[in-house]
Amino acid sequence: MVDTHRFAKEAQDTAIIMIRINEITDVVSTYIDDPDLDLIRRAYVFSARAHEGQVRLSGEPYLSHPLHVAKILADMRLDEPTVAAGLLHDTVEDTDATIDDIAELFGEEVADIVDGVTKIGMMDFESKAIAKAENIRKMILAMAEDIRVLMVKLADRLHNMSTLDFQKNYKQLLIAQETLDIYSPLANRLGLYMVKRDLEDLCLYYLKPDIFQNITDGLERQHTLGKEYVDKVLGLLQDVLKSNELTGSIYGRTKHKYSIYNKMVRQGLELDQVHDIIAFRVIVDSVKECYAVLGLVHSMWMPIAGRFKDYISIPKANMYQSLHTTVVGPEGERIEIQIRTAEMQKVAEYGVAAHWQYKESGTSASKQNRDAERFSWLRQIMDWQRELEDPREFMSSLRFDLFNDEVYIFTPGGDIQELPDGATPVDFAYSIHTDVGNHCTGAKVNGRLVPLTTALKNGDTVEIFTDKKRKPSRDWLKFVKTAKARTRIKHYIRTEERERSIRLAKEMLEKEGRRMNLNVPKAIKDGYFVMLADEFSCGTVDDLLSNVGYSRITPRKILRRLYAVINNIEGEEEVPDVHPAQTPEEKDKDKAKDIGNAIEIEGVDNVLIRFAGCCTPLPGEPIIGYISRGRGVAVHSATCPNVKNLEEERLLNVSWSGGQEEASHPAQISIRCKNIKGLLAKICSILSDQDVNIDSGTFRSDVDGISLLEFTVEVRDLGHLHRALNKLKTLDAVLETTRLS
Ligand code: MN
Repeated sequence: MVDTHRFAKEAQDTAIIMIRINEITDVVSTYIDDPDLDLIRRAYVFSARAHEGQVRLSGEPYLSHPLHVAKILADMRLDEPTVAAGLLHDTVEDTDATIDDIAELFGEEVADIVDGVTKIGMMDFESKAIAKAENIRKMILAMAEDIRVLMVKLADRLHNMSTLDFQKNYKQLLIAQETLDIYSPLANRLGLYMVKRDLEDLCLYYLKPDIFQNITDGLERQHTLGKEYVDKVLGLLQDVLKSNELTGSIYGRTKHKYSIYNKMVRQGLELDQVHDIIAFRVIVDSVKECYAVLGLVHSMWMPIAGRFKDYISIPKANMYQSLHTTVVGPEGERIEIQIRTAEMQKVAEYGVAAHWQYKESGTSASKQNRDAERFSWLRQIMDWQRELEDPREFMSSLRFDLFNDEVYIFTPGGDIQELPDGATPVDFAYSIHTDVGNHCTGAKVNGRLVPLTTALKNGDTVEIFTDKKRKPSRDWLKFVKTAKARTRIKHYIRTEERERSIRLAKEMLEKEGRRMNLNVPKAIKDGYFVMLADEFSCGTVDDLLSNVGYSRITPRKILRRLYAVINNIEGEEEVPDVHPAQTPEEKDKDKAKDIGNAIEIEGVDNVLIRFAGCCTPLPGEPIIGYISRGRGVAVHSATCPNVKNLEEERLLNVSWSGGQEEASHPAQISIRCKNIKGLLAKICSILSDQDVNIDSGTFRSDVDGISLLEFTVEVRDLGHLHRALNKLKTLDAVLETTRLS
């Protein structure tokens, strides 16, 4: 058994012996020229102080954990900031140290890595369903904008897995399952095969201890029996290389236990039936030599059809390159042989990490290049990933655009919702359930109360408060980002307003019907309204009623027809006409002006809309609608004093429809000015320049030389009016301009 569990075994063997910082700096010096060891040493001192007095479950000082993590990172050949971050990775979460301390002492680069690791550490995976593992992987990828964050997180997980013995049994199972669901696939995706192997074998050890033991015993037995066989194959390969003047290294190694277990499960085999447990690996200098060795192997032993894989010309998504073939070896045994270059071997072991390191010295320009290279590799992996997955995945990942377009949000229970960038707590509430959205009253983000308009950030934990009595607000439509929230809100408002209009219609018909001696509820019960609905081209009785409620059809019209039908009258001349009672606002009707389609009511059209007459709101000002009795919807300014006297049941949300620039609206203004000759002409000229029409005006002069002008003018909207008033103020003689409401 060569090189399996290298990291994990090392970690286990040394679990009670503290790694010395020099062991780490020594390793770093082997692969970086002139490394910044001072950074690593300072991180060590800081970590030692921060964790002072803390103890791991194993009883050893806590510091041993960050030291092991840093050592694993050094073994993975990572740069100095990453190794330093490994030493510091638990200081923010577990000690008094803050991320600002880290930034100040070790720079933004180290601080960003530590911050990323801390954030991932705060995700509470335990409560999450295994089915969500893919989501969590995406989430981690999205959070780790610097891939080194994942490296530290994986090293952290590897050391925690190798010291899992000290945890309670149920915790061991949870952590091992989470590792299998999230971290080993992550290691695989990043091409960190050594880490993946070690993690998976440790998971098997905790999750299926019996099977792990069986496989271990079986391998030991086979290995002893088969040592002769392995040596024979190694010898034959050595000879054929030598006689063809090729130099290379040849290894025989047992595959990792989890992959053997997988094979047994997938193919329903006993351990004895699993062939090619030993993989032979030939490492040569060039790609050309790889293919040469492949030819030699195939001419010596018969290849098994369908088992040859050329990952050199088509690398795996995670950059892995190698030739794989399975042949019928000596004594008819199937053996798997992998052929690759030393460079490819490095990638297979260290994954993407092997790609970006240390070709140049540490000038800032080359450091930038290094970063660019690092991200381009990550991007490339993502690109390839896209090509490999099925078309649906591909489409959805197009939107994914690496990190930017989506945010992943947690419920307090640990579920994940994927939302578009800029999504708000209301979007989140609707993504959980329509009822949660419809009744949402407030939200806490990461434990803090926030407005519902807050844009959520990746990784936020959001708690929604609901109240059954609370209803969606039309204002929400202004800030929600998801189609789901939008349609649900609109649907709710429409349904609610329709119900209200039906209620109103019944009430109006009943009231006015009484004055014509018509019993409307009875007429509805007796089915007269089914016929009326048909006559008025409404699909259902409710449609008819809602039309009445929205004043598209007057109650009088319906009642007169109903009267005629019930009393068997042919023409309508004999139908008594009863005028509806007038409401206060209707007394102003002479001043009212039909305003066509400057105003809209969400989800409702063909409604007679007019301004109430008591106030003159301008586009841009808050307004409110009132369903009058039989005279359409009257629009008031939201601040109109008459509004508070109106029946609340009949109030309706309305809004300016926009695109009505041409329409003009009346507004009253007053101008206080000095009584100077020619001023009135100047004022009129300015208003005319501003495209403001004067409808009427009054002029009053006081004894002290101050005049008061009052005009009714026509303007397009509030902005138009304000611009005109500001212009008037530029005149020295003008003391004050006011809009009268
Ligand atoms: Mn840790």
